[in-house]
Amino acid sequence: MRAVVKRKPEPGVVFAEVPKPTIAADEVLIEVKAAAICGSDLGIYDYTPAYSKMRLPVVMGHEFSGKIAEAGPQVKGYAIGDRVLAESVKACAVCVYCRSGHENLCDASTLFGIHVDGGMAEYVAVPYRLLHRLPGELSFEEGALIEPLSNALHFVKDCTPIRLGDLAVVHGCGPIGIFSAQLFRLAGAEVILTGVNVDTERFKIASGLGLEIVNVEKEDLAKLVSERTGGRGADIAFVATGAPPAVVQATQIVKKRGQITIIGIFGRPVEVPMTQVVRREITLSGAYDAKPENFDQSIRLAKSGAIKVKELITHRFLLEKAREAFETAKSRVGCKVEFIP
Ligand SMILES: [Zn+2]
Ligand SMILES: [Zn+2]
Repeated sequence: MRAVVKRKPEPGVVFAEVPKPTIAADEVLIEVKAAAICGSDLGIYDYTPAYSKMRLPVVMGHEFSGKIAEAGPQVKGYAIGDRVLAESVKACAVCVYCRSGHENLCDASTLFGIHVDGGMAEYVAVPYRLLHRLPGELSFEEGALIEPLSNALHFVKDCTPIRLGDLAVVHGCGPIGIFSAQLFRLAGAEVILTGVNVDTERFKIASGLGLEIVNVEKEDLAKLVSERTGGRGADIAFVATGAPPAVVQATQIVKKRGQITIIGIFGRPVEVPMTQVVRREITLSGAYDAKPENFDQSIRLAKSGAIKVKELITHRFLLEKAREAFETAKSRVGCKVEFIP
């Protein structure tokens, strides 16, 4: 079958013909209809140190949807032809985190497109317990984005103590930033979404969704937040970028006893003005991945239209155009880039 493969411990990916996966008794074979490129896939593409322990070669992709083409004898509740998407993490189910409802922090998890073959291919094998049904109201292209929406939902709903009427500043207008900004607004917050000069297209998408945007290379964010809050500061700063200056900015714009949630993956250690954090009693917390329950919640939010998904998709490529697709995603000329196998 045709696939996008990370072959060597060096930058790049290749399009390749690889064997069609065989399924275990508890797995289904999904005929992939859409697979999106995630920010983490760009880290893999560049082969940054955060991914040095990945399995090679591996078929990439953890954000995908499709139709069930085969089902093993132990598969329950799903049949051939069903429209589905999958969770991206196979948690072990036995470690202390899995047993306390924190599967996203599993000690022994494996991820599609990093440890096992993923969805940027014609077919992918998936354990049926990771499946979620894709409702008829949602396209396959939208289905592929339920995984990143689930992440954003976990970061906002489970990891950030947001309250009605809060001012939330979302630093970074990538897909997770735009999803999170929509979620904060849905939770009753006033939201400011920030970006930089290169984010022109993403600003257009965010504006189209009615979100307030601030280009921090052109406008003084700290001044704006100060004016907006009578000098107090934002209730929430949400760092959805791996750019270190955003962390520093978050400590400057958040109010005393405010919350900073950090979800960016940073290529190097970040210097934080810690005395600010201490003297102003700021809470600084990380948030990672999603829990299984976030998938059903995200499907409901997308299905009802409460959160807009398809607006984020700007580019579609054949698997053969792997390099072009990754370069497009890297250049930030659009927002979500998908493979349509
Ligand atoms: Zn992802
Ligand atoms: Zn576990």
